[in-house]
Amino acid sequence: MFDRGIELKTPAQLRVMREAGLVVAHTLARLRDQVAAGMTTADLDAIARAAIAEMGATSNFLGYHGFPGVICTSVNDEVVHGIPGDRVIADGDVVSIDCGAVVDGWHGDSAVTVAVGEVPERVQDLLRVTEQAMWHGVSAAHDGGRVGDVGHAVQTYVASQGEYGIVTGYTGHGIGTAMHQPPDVPNVGRPGKGARLKAGMAIAVEPMITLGTSQTRTLEDDWTVVSLDGSWAAHFEHSVAITADGLWVLTAPDGGRAALEALGAPYAGD
Ligand code: MG
Ligand code: MG
Repeated sequence: MFDRGIELKTPAQLRVMREAGLVVAHTLARLRDQVAAGMTTADLDAIARAAIAEMGATSNFLGYHGFPGVICTSVNDEVVHGIPGDRVIADGDVVSIDCGAVVDGWHGDSAVTVAVGEVPERVQDLLRVTEQAMWHGVSAAHDGGRVGDVGHAVQTYVASQGEYGIVTGYTGHGIGTAMHQPPDVPNVGRPGKGARLKAGMAIAVEPMITLGTSQTRTLEDDWTVVSLDGSWAAHFEHSVAITADGLWVLTAPDGGRAALEALGAPYAGD
């Protein structure tokens, strides 16, 4: 069912989206465990391919506008949409891994940024701030709210943590029977503005934060998005269902319970 172009899911449909979300969660957990210096980004893609297939799901990334991988791997100054290939991961790199999966036609989408070996404190801070910004954004979503509430929460949290660039050229999105649906979910915004959030909606909240500029450019491969000033970037994403009772983070192993409770937001998973 659609409301002003936005897909509303039944509880039964959200339970299938949870299955897709858990495939993504388990795939990212495996990648996080196994990523190491000396591996190529194609090695990570192979691990993800095997994991998604083992769990009986399919990839929504593979073939998306011709994308050749089941994950995006974006290293250091690469923000999003990096193509897995022969790049060798080095000690001290940060690797953003974005992954999606489909179960019975319902999509999940989630991303993490992982530090490989030792990274400077400033980079550790970048990862922590980006992940927490995602949770602040997720926690601001509620039945009857607005998309601007989410962006405002991301933006104000990031600003409270120091000097960072919030990438504004890319946004989160609705998710359901397709990976990318209306509404867009920007990482900046004004409270009470933008598309209305309603029970039955599912959105992907995905801040992309840099140690410098908010501006990006796309490399010659037509995919890889890098920060314009070469500053390092992080990207965290969860797909979250909005219900009348609260939030269910479909791509978090615990449904988001711990992080939501820490921020005082209502958990409404199973
Ligand atoms: Mg994603
Ligand atoms: Mg996404």
